[in-house]
Amino acid sequence: MKRIAVLGATGSIGRQALEIIDAHPRLELVAAASGSQAIDGLAPLTQVGGDLTELLERAQPDVVLNAVVGFAGLPATLWALERGVDLALANKESLVAAGDLATAAQRRGGGRLLPVDSEHSAAYQCLEERGPESVHSLVLTASGGPFRGRTREELADVGPEDALAHPTWSMGPKITIDSATLANKGLELIEAHYLFDLDYDRIEVVIHPTSTVHSLVRFRDGAALAHLGYPDMRVPISFALTYPERATTPVPPLDLTSGLTLEFEAPDLDTFSLLPLARRAGKHGGTYPCAFNAANEVAVAAFLQGRLAFLGIAETVEETLASVDGAPAQDLSELYEADAQARRLAERTAAAA
Ligand code: NAD
Ligand code: MG
Repeated sequence: MKRIAVLGATGSIGRQALEIIDAHPRLELVAAASGSQAIDGLAPLTQVGGDLTELLERAQPDVVLNAVVGFAGLPATLWALERGVDLALANKESLVAAGDLATAAQRRGGGRLLPVDSEHSAAYQCLEERGPESVHSLVLTASGGPFRGRTREELADVGPEDALAHPTWSMGPKITIDSATLANKGLELIEAHYLFDLDYDRIEVVIHPTSTVHSLVRFRDGAALAHLGYPDMRVPISFALTYPERATTPVPPLDLTSGLTLEFEAPDLDTFSLLPLARRAGKHGGTYPCAFNAANEVAVAAFLQGRLAFLGIAETVEETLASVDGAPAQDLSELYEADAQARRLAERTAAAA
């Protein structure tokens, strides 16, 4: 039996995880948490909001599935990595914001970090735990979101309902907006850097509208391995929860003869400037990725509440990054300080926009 704690159990990833656990005889749900929705009776131990490490301490799970959205997922990520408890990580924001501290915690704890993000799960499967020395480069695919092909002028007036209409994936609101701005791919670039220990120059982003190829690894011997499948998060969730087994899922096998299209194009970095901004923040390192994430969270919330224009999201992040010092955080309290400072700056910028 694998005893699993699902954090963010009421969300898009969380609900799909509960379905996977329910269908698998050797997966047992021991704890569940949500941010604010009532979840009494959903699992033997439950918690709504607050410090989720208290729930983890009580539950002592074998696997933590962190499907909380945003920086709020950080304590649970560090709790699992520090203790060597397997971490199935959907909450990319925690790894982006605290990459250095999280990698150090994993080195000490020695637990497995299994990515749930589809591109990273795909890359993990192609890599089979091979290190960066055998890799030439990693290609992360992006659907391009609902605004692929649009110009900046055409994006000036788009509202939340336009941005929430994602062409290939059905997800929570924050990541759906991140997919429309390509901030999501920026976060994933930084996530991949920390997960696979690859320099940013060896991680490429390519637009692939049908989301059939989830990632591709080019190895130094000239071989390129890609991971294909229908865009369905139950596959990476199941992979992470049942690893190293590959359990059955309700997802149909890939049909190659029913008009499968595999098209790729370069992203439009001028229109979707959050992607190059993330790359720059990642390369600068220190607390720049933390500030990128914090400013983006603030700006996305403001956009969803109708307080900020779509293009204002990137402007807010850019101005915030220009105002912080990005100095590395020596410990968690310094990281929290960098996060809070970036949030204050982003709130001010968004309010003035
Ligand atoms: P969602 O908005 O659907 O769900 C978020 C969950 O987090 C909810 O259960 C909510 O109650 C909980 N939550 C929010 N704040 C919390 C807090 N302070 N404490 C405890 N719980 C809190 O989001 P989602 O789409 O399921 O995404 C979750 C994470 O997975 C995000 O980091 C996202 O980037 C990542 N992810 C999602 C998808 C997807 O298909 N949805 C794909 C890849 C990665
Ligand atoms: Mg992804």
